Amino acid sequence: MSRRPVIAGNWKMNLSADDAIALAAAVRDRCGRFRDVDVVIAPQGMMLWPIARRLEGSPVGLAAQNCHWADKGAYTGEFSPVQLKETGCTHVIIGHSERRQYFGETDEGVGKKARALHDHGLIPILCVGESLQQRESGQTIAVVSSQVAAGVAELSDDELAETIIAYEPVWAIGTGLTASPEQAQDVHLEIRNLLSRLANEATAQRVRIQYGGSVKPSNVRELMSQADIDGALVGGASLTIDSFAQLVAHREDFDK
Ligand code: PEP
Repeated sequence: MSRRPVIAGNWKMNLSADDAIALAAAVRDRCGRFRDVDVVIAPQGMMLWPIARRLEGSPVGLAAQNCHWADKGAYTGEFSPVQLKETGCTHVIIGHSERRQYFGETDEGVGKKARALHDHGLIPILCVGESLQQRESGQTIAVVSSQVAAGVAELSDDELAETIIAYEPVWAIGTGLTASPEQAQDVHLEIRNLLSRLANEATAQRVRIQYGGSVKPSNVRELMSQADIDGALVGGASLTIDSFAQLVAHREDFDK
């Protein structure tokens, strides 16, 4: 089954306000014209509103890097799915390993966020991945499977099919180390088989599974050529327009 690839840039806590707006405008102008790929950018939270205004009318999607599951309330420092939707977001990254590692994000919380996002018409980009120690002790599939299962536990089959899963081995994020295409494909296939057991084969075949972890123009084609790799979640290489545009255009002659 052919799935439409999705390339997403996670800007994390980088870029000044001026630089973030300039980069968003450049992504709109240079990456919004490719008809066979979905493009999403995830600026830092305070930049969502001005960037949403600049993306109006463009096919480029806008993601928050995190959210709360509640609609509103006494949760200092958080954004609700309702607010993110109103701001113009289309997607929200949940369960990123940096949030799991530094901010105590749990599998249960990630599942609640996925549920809340679908309640408000937002697409979760659900991140999962093992640490180096977990990979070396043979726990990769067990860890990733329990993260995926908890993340999608509250979703209907159609909601699951709309959800984007990002497999991001923690040891490959921001380190320059990349999982080999075969290593990534092995885990992606395991995730798809798990989704087939949790829902059904037809639903599992619809889910787009991104790879993340030091994706760059020099390795994107090989990764994306794998049968179950349907896109990339990109940190470092999404921070400059030239490298991000090359990732988006990886199937075409650049600047055609
Ligand atoms: C990420 O943080 O989601 C990521 C994949 O980062 P990088 O591309 O820099 O490894």
